[in-house]
Amino acid sequence: MDEHPIDARTPEEKRADHAGQHPELREHLQPMSWMCTQEAATERPFTGGYCDEKRSGTYACVVCGEALFASDDKYDSGCGWPSFTTPMDDAPVDHRTDSSHGMSRTETTCGSCGAHLGHVFDDGPGPSGERYCINSACLVLEERPDG
Ligand SMILES: [Zn+2]
Repeated sequence: MDEHPIDARTPEEKRADHAGQHPELREHLQPMSWMCTQEAATERPFTGGYCDEKRSGTYACVVCGEALFASDDKYDSGCGWPSFTTPMDDAPVDHRTDSSHGMSRTETTCGSCGAHLGHVFDDGPGPSGERYCINSACLVLEERPDG
């Protein structure tokens, strides 16, 4: 049983498919969420609502609601964006090389709807050494009551 079978569509194709199925999306999303998820924009550092977020819960894709990151994996990297050491187990987070802006980076997108999320860097503190640097505007925190 594979919950997430191989999906050969590019993130752009997934976005177009999702937008076709959800024509109301643009009205429902905040402008920054639209720009980041659909146009791969990056919010300015230290401006995102989840940069210093400490509440417990699950960070879901703001576009499709797929659970992607857990607050337990969030850490304070000081980089100005929410940072995670890893996606949640089995979370549909896709990776591809992004050569824009004269840099070679790894872009992360939602494997379900193609939303751009952010980038992953190799200076993280965990065993994987990865830092998932994600735009706040691409996420929505589903808070978990403590206790
Ligand atoms: Zn999504």
